[in-house]
Amino acid sequence: QKRIKIKDALVLAPVGSFITVMGWVRNFRSNRFIDINDGSCNANLQAVLEFEKEDPALLRRITTGASVKVSGELVASQGKGQRVELKVDHVDIFGDSDASAYPLQPKRHSLEFLREIAHLRFRTNTFGAVFRVRHALAFAVHQFYNERGFLYLHTPIITASDAEGAGELFRVTTLDAANPPLTEDGRVDFKQDFFGKPTNLTVSGQLEGELGAMAFSEIYTFGPTFRAENSNTARHLAEFWMIEPEMAFCDLEDNMNLAEEFIRYIISYVMKHNEEDLQFLDKRLEEEEKTKPEAERSGMGLLEKLNFVVDNPFERITYTQAIDILLQSPAYKKKKFKFDVSWGIDMQSEHERYLVEKHFKRPVIVTNYPKEIKAFYMRQNDDGKTVAAMDILAPGIGEIVGGSQREERLDKLVERMEELHLPLEELSWYLDTRRFGTVPHAGFGLGFERMVQFVTGMGNIRDVIAFPRTPNNCEF
Ligand code: ATP
Ligand code: MG
Ligand code: MG
Ligand code: MG
Repeated sequence: QKRIKIKDALVLAPVGSFITVMGWVRNFRSNRFIDINDGSCNANLQAVLEFEKEDPALLRRITTGASVKVSGELVASQGKGQRVELKVDHVDIFGDSDASAYPLQPKRHSLEFLREIAHLRFRTNTFGAVFRVRHALAFAVHQFYNERGFLYLHTPIITASDAEGAGELFRVTTLDAANPPLTEDGRVDFKQDFFGKPTNLTVSGQLEGELGAMAFSEIYTFGPTFRAENSNTARHLAEFWMIEPEMAFCDLEDNMNLAEEFIRYIISYVMKHNEEDLQFLDKRLEEEEKTKPEAERSGMGLLEKLNFVVDNPFERITYTQAIDILLQSPAYKKKKFKFDVSWGIDMQSEHERYLVEKHFKRPVIVTNYPKEIKAFYMRQNDDGKTVAAMDILAPGIGEIVGGSQREERLDKLVERMEELHLPLEELSWYLDTRRFGTVPHAGFGLGFERMVQFVTGMGNIRDVIAFPRTPNNCEF
């Protein structure tokens, strides 16, 4: 008998076919109905034991969490909601599960509890749906860029540069921490270490990505990035995945257009391919919203929000306009913001969310930020104060994309790097792209987990990555 996935059994396999499925018992009811899930879809396959085939020793081993192989005939389902069920001929147990010790029971567990057993939470409906959606989004990312002729470039994970200059680096070292070689003035001597200089885990693949764009015209990276974020927020991880396209012969406008098209594309892809999961998550969110105070409710369902984003253009404003809106907002006047607002601030999540959720009620692209709060590589505008940056802000989250047109003029770039006391020598490889055949170019970084949060409606970024890394949390 052919082994098939439960998704195929439920949707495709004809009534009357004899099949085998393998999976984990979610629930066993009345010594007769086994709900089996193999992770291929949210729904369980109901396997029905015939009374005459009862075997008490076997029945005792069919417990929540046990892994089973079940064979039989697919028959039309008596119950509501499902097309078919399995009339069981044969059950094999792969691995027993002591139900009294098994942390997952057939009921709804809190996300906080599930975070404590992150090694088992894939086996719940919520995390099943989240990780299938995450998978589909990742696949859609590659499809989008592949269709447009972008080359997938793998930028290094260990690097000697700090692209963002934000100082949130994880140092890489082979040094014996208890006994490192020291310089004469007592500091760690990285010259004697593996790479002969200080290195760190990458915070962004952008600088290397630019080198690729200067040869392949259009590239993208999609890989892990690392930042020692010392705050615990619902949208920061120490290890997260970033998608970074970089395009030669491209300005800020093209960059925004691509980012918008990209976001719409991957959302549409998931809406088409993961309907069942999104419906489940939509319902989950609806129930969660009911438990919140009125003022904190978004007032829009998940599917409604995704449909809206796919069908409507994002708002586009400058940073200066954004600050003006905030200064004139009732929230500001009633002192509702925790952080003060003035031209020059790096907007906080509360400000970003005010713009998208309260003011525009749609995603917003903010352009032309003050140069002081942005990285050295962004193209300087003629006003001498701002750079050609763009952030995309999304409801429920805030910033999901950070991008810019890059400074392609060697003299301007060097001038800015000198102002910031950046090591010109060490970044000489980067400056070569400006020395030899420089072109206008632009790109952005989309935080993949923030995108997964947006599409799944999950409030905490720890719940959209399989193995979250946050301060004091690296279990496995
Ligand atoms: P934030 O202002 O939220 O700290 P950022 O401006 O420091 O973000 P960028 O350097 O612009 O972030 O990185 C590009 C994108 O990567 C961000 O728009 C965001 O989607 C994502 N990102 C940045 N830091 C994190 C993090 N610690 N965890 C998860 N995603 C992140
Ligand atoms: Mg940051
Ligand atoms: Mg930011
Ligand atoms: Mg940013």
